[in-house]
Amino acid sequence: MPTESSGLDLAYDASSAPFFEGAAQGRLVLQRCGACETWMWPVKYRCVHCFAADVEWRPASGRATLYSLSVVHQQYPGFPHPYVIATVETDEGVRFNTTLVGDDVENMAIGSALMAEFDADEQPFTLPRFRRIP
Ligand SMILES: [Zn+2]
Repeated sequence: MPTESSGLDLAYDASSAPFFEGAAQGRLVLQRCGACETWMWPVKYRCVHCFAADVEWRPASGRATLYSLSVVHQQYPGFPHPYVIATVETDEGVRFNTTLVGDDVENMAIGSALMAEFDADEQPFTLPRFRRIP
């Protein structure tokens, strides 16, 4: 989410690379259990539902619902002011924190339908953002 150099040493490792490499290619890629088909993110080494070790990376739909949001007014170097931290729940049932794009996101209704989008030029790496869809 930093918009300019924030002084943070941000990086990802091999265990989460499929998520970030998918995002760089404009795709939301999440983990899915091969035994019970439960979807997961952030990285898990075993299924959070059945504890199977058969966890694989799969393209997700990119569709989600706004679960909650918080408007952050504290100013931090490299971050827009104010900015929104949102928790979304993907159609696959995975909840994670992200941010929203579009107009008037501070007042977006909980439960709004969202779609992931990606900025391949984002530095130091691309993260999914979510935009309201009609
Ligand atoms: Zn499972």
